[in-house]
Amino acid sequence: MTEFKPALFNEWELTKRAKEKKLQPFKLKQIFFELYKNQNTERDTLTTLSKDLRNELKEHFDLLAIEVIETIEAEDTTKFAFKTRDWHIIEAILMYHRQNEKYVKEDKPKLNRITLCISSQVGCAMNCLFCVTWKLWFKRDLTWEEIISQILYANTYIKKRFWKKEDGTNNGIRNVVFMGMWEPLLNYENIRKSLEIMLQQDRFSLWRRHITISTCWIIPWIEKLIKDKVDVKLAISLHAPNQELRNKIMPVAKAYPLEDLMETIDNYVKATDNRIFYEYIMIKDLTDKPELAHQLVKLLSKRLAHVNLIPYNENPAIELKESPKNNIQIFKKILEDWNVTVTVRDSMWREAKGACWQLGYEKVKEKF
Ligand code: SF4
Repeated sequence: MTEFKPALFNEWELTKRAKEKKLQPFKLKQIFFELYKNQNTERDTLTTLSKDLRNELKEHFDLLAIEVIETIEAEDTTKFAFKTRDWHIIEAILMYHRQNEKYVKEDKPKLNRITLCISSQVGCAMNCLFCVTWKLWFKRDLTWEEIISQILYANTYIKKRFWKKEDGTNNGIRNVVFMGMWEPLLNYENIRKSLEIMLQQDRFSLWRRHITISTCWIIPWIEKLIKDKVDVKLAISLHAPNQELRNKIMPVAKAYPLEDLMETIDNYVKATDNRIFYEYIMIKDLTDKPELAHQLVKLLSKRLAHVNLIPYNENPAIELKESPKNNIQIFKKILEDWNVTVTVRDSMWREAKGACWQLGYEKVKEKF
């Protein structure tokens, strides 16, 4: 197997090298400051490091473990396609949330916060009926270096595009969601290591509450999260309130019965006191029927839950259709009437083909 150079932010490799070269510890701090806090991930911008040091680093380290090959910019999103060093393509999406227009007098609402949706695997093995990502087939798990590289690269892009906030600090990623090409929990050890770096004060220093792992209910790994006390937000791709419909649209459900899943989630809530986000896809004449809303109420009304209704994002490889707006409103009202908190997710990310179940869209489109 081809050996690649470690990424520059790999502190274990960097520390080893620093010992061999008798580098003073402050130089390492300087490198990490440039990458994580100053949001510089291009060699010619690392000007606080001496030329000799930069040459030395260039010889032994890659700056990042992936390379951007395409950037698609839309008004409220940017989608990046990255090439891994063994020639796979993965995608990540930046999403710009702006201030509520009601409170803003200017033409364009100001940037409020930025979320990055990252990939944790190349392709996906889950075969969900409504998704194009699995049609690229599962290739491999991403390494923690490849996961962290997506965040570092996106932060550099944000710095260049939006520069400073009014208070003089850099704009940067506030939220990270593991909702790209996945299933993240099947790549548990790399996710765990990435989370450690995301939460570290002198690295990204993200808040726990600003990191979300989205899973399609792999029960043993949710149990592992409980055991390891991994206390970040959990989103469950539920998409159906009964076993029969779940089996039909998400084959993984056959291995993990709904009843067992809910028991495991109850244990997770008991251990963390975290509210669970349930993702529910709105597909015309399939998941949007009022009787299913009532079943969802029965399943969730006594639980610490929030439901995200996600209008289906259509694509040419799959015949399913998005629910009409009226169906979505009727479904939402049923949940609200029974005090289940619910939001309808904005579909603004479709423009860059960066919405749910569209990752890999361009590659899949070529085949149809
Ligand atoms: S919806 Fe998610 S879990 Fe299902 S095939 Fe697509 S990427 Fe995989």
